[in-house]
Amino acid sequence: MEFNTSLLHGRAVGGYANHSTLPHISQAVEYQFETAEDAGKAFHHQSPAYAYSRVANPTVSALERRLAEAEGGAGAYACASGMSAVTLSLLNILKAGDEIVSSGGVYGGTLDLYADLELLGIHTVFADSMTPEALEPLITDRTRVVFGELIGNPSLRILDVPAVSEAAHRHGAALIVDATTASPYLAKPLTMGADVVVHSTTKYISGSGQAVGGVIVESGHADWGSGRFPALAKFRKYGPMAYMIRLRTDLGENFGGCMSASHAYLTTLGLETLGVRMERICRNAEALAQALNQLPGIEVNYPTLPGAPDRELVRGELHGLGGGIVTFRAGSRERAFAIINHLQYAIRATSLGDVRTLVIHPATTFFANTSKEQNAAAGVYDDSVRVSVGIEDVNDLIEDFTQAVENA
Ligand SMILES: *Cc1c(COP(=O)(O)O)cnc(C)c1O
Repeated sequence: MEFNTSLLHGRAVGGYANHSTLPHISQAVEYQFETAEDAGKAFHHQSPAYAYSRVANPTVSALERRLAEAEGGAGAYACASGMSAVTLSLLNILKAGDEIVSSGGVYGGTLDLYADLELLGIHTVFADSMTPEALEPLITDRTRVVFGELIGNPSLRILDVPAVSEAAHRHGAALIVDATTASPYLAKPLTMGADVVVHSTTKYISGSGQAVGGVIVESGHADWGSGRFPALAKFRKYGPMAYMIRLRTDLGENFGGCMSASHAYLTTLGLETLGVRMERICRNAEALAQALNQLPGIEVNYPTLPGAPDRELVRGELHGLGGGIVTFRAGSRERAFAIINHLQYAIRATSLGDVRTLVIHPATTFFANTSKEQNAAAGVYDDSVRVSVGIEDVNDLIEDFTQAVENA
């Protein structure tokens, strides 16, 4: 079964009440037990019965099964937001004294989170580039996680998952990949060596900007038994599922950042059309990048353009697709603002992965709290504009950006 078919007819799809084609929205918080004994079993995770919707909910479980299948993973945990997913994915295996080696070119919220984690005694070291040669000297005997984004937001650098996972595993560290900007349509990092994948489902997976959410997916073949992850010690009997079982029955439950049933339903609707949207979005983005590249004084960054640094990885890992984000430098902040303000169809809004084209100036918004050096590592300059390309007719988009550049 290929990708689009499996989203609709995969093993994880179906089994819904009354043979409905979609899961019901199970708004109920609590579930009845036949007997007092049954309640005890459910609380000790000795029966598959639902007990309380913060811990597990049928609509959320239905989405989790489908997301795990879409990523080629063994299990998934849906949570309240992408940041909740990033946070829990790290805290599930980290403790004070541990270190993260991260790409500098990651989402601004994740950079902010690293600063929060410093206060908990978890230190982050930044790699200039995510190659084994650059990473390995940064790995110490305290490193437990290597973290990177499959397509950096907004650096648009591509993570070489097989090479980086090998380097991480050589030193007993886990590789966690934030694959939000690629979505499972472009690549499945768990099948290439990553141990854990996180998504902000708010973005491409939902698709219409209709539901904030996140998900953590585990490969099912990571080695958690090395003794380097004491948080998982109690769960070692679950073997490669130790990470997911701890997340589901311990950390996730206690942090309480669960996804709601209504959000899971909306996210399921988005997931069903992920493939067709991504196909269109990637085609639009490449055409828009090429057109912008012809305009005077505009310097475009898009992974498939001639001269882009990771074209080999795009060909090998992403099946030739460059994703839906295009960034460009306009020469000055004033010109960047003027272009943004002249756009007719592209909406001035944060977020990405929407069916609508969204445009924003990163340096004064989601990269406003980070240093100039951090911003440069993420490819954010004072004159940078980020475009999240939508599914509009591409000629309209090209016309819109062309007139905005001319009128600016
Ligand atoms: C948006 C985003 C997040 C955070 O997701 P939220 O759903 O907004 O919390 C994390 N990583 C990346 C790459 C993102 O684009």
